[in-house]
Amino acid sequence: MRPFTYMKPATAADAVRAITACGPGARFLAGGTTLYDLMKLNVETPASVVDVNSLTELNDFDTSGSSELVFGALARMSDVAGDPWLQADYPALSESLRSAASPQLRNMASLGGNLLQRTRCAYFRGGEPFACNKRKPGSGCSARDGLNRAHALLGGSEMCIAVYPGDWAVALSAFDAKVDVLGPNGQRTITLEDLYREPGATPNLETTLEFNELILRIRVPRTPLGRASTYHKIRDRESFAFALASAAVALQMDGPTVRDVRIAVGGLATRPWRARAAEQNLVGRPLTTQAVRAAGEAALRGAKASDDNRFRIELGARTVADALMIAKRRALGQ
Ligand code: SF4
Repeated sequence: MRPFTYMKPATAADAVRAITACGPGARFLAGGTTLYDLMKLNVETPASVVDVNSLTELNDFDTSGSSELVFGALARMSDVAGDPWLQADYPALSESLRSAASPQLRNMASLGGNLLQRTRCAYFRGGEPFACNKRKPGSGCSARDGLNRAHALLGGSEMCIAVYPGDWAVALSAFDAKVDVLGPNGQRTITLEDLYREPGATPNLETTLEFNELILRIRVPRTPLGRASTYHKIRDRESFAFALASAAVALQMDGPTVRDVRIAVGGLATRPWRARAAEQNLVGRPLTTQAVRAAGEAALRGAKASDDNRFRIELGARTVADALMIAKRRALGQ
């Protein structure tokens, strides 16, 4: 590990000022479950680390509001996953947190940091021996002709096919969440969907945040779709594994007919992936076995397989279909 300077400001404004003074080589530190990991691998080599864990005003979350749910950026994953209101009203959000990482990591990891976790691509994490446009722009992509079983089928580019590895952001995208951030010019709000970039020609740029913008909180509009929702995650083992395919689904039914539905897929794309075409095909129709199968196929439309991951097109379609059936049972109280 390389030496770095360490700061622990007392307010969010001080934290932004401190990191701005340090320049783009600095990083915010929250739970540390991604940053320390990558620093030990020499993939992240910040000259300065600005620890935001003293900003206790960002620890709180409130899932009882009548218009929106509010999650402070420093709330810990395990605390929020265990919230009984969330489990009852938005099971997809609670399940996405509970299915991530290990209990120890969930006790440390923050909700804001979780949004910004970086890819698990082995060539990105493996360091200098491997070409990686995300780690070193212009160096190439080792995954293209290498091991790509877990790489993205949606949203990739010639430059990068790394999967966005998170679960929480996928579930949030199904609920049209918003993110409040603080930067040197004040506060702004962006939709969760606008937080993420596709790799295109610049896979090193993963989000639309500047280096000196701090996530303050995440807000989720209250919606009747929350109760009949689910986060369905398929992985190589049932714990401490990243998604090979996942689906966040939220549903509202009029008897046997779909009144409204939200579908987002994870583990398959370079960013949280909202499947709007699949949603539109379902509204106003009965949720039959054929309909959920068609929705799964629509969600994966345009998928581009690499050598080792073709099986995940079918896996992704089935994951969406299964998630819709789970949500249907919840909507009908079964
Ligand atoms: Fe790097 Fe992206 Fe290629 Fe992985 S897929 S080696 S992160 S450029």
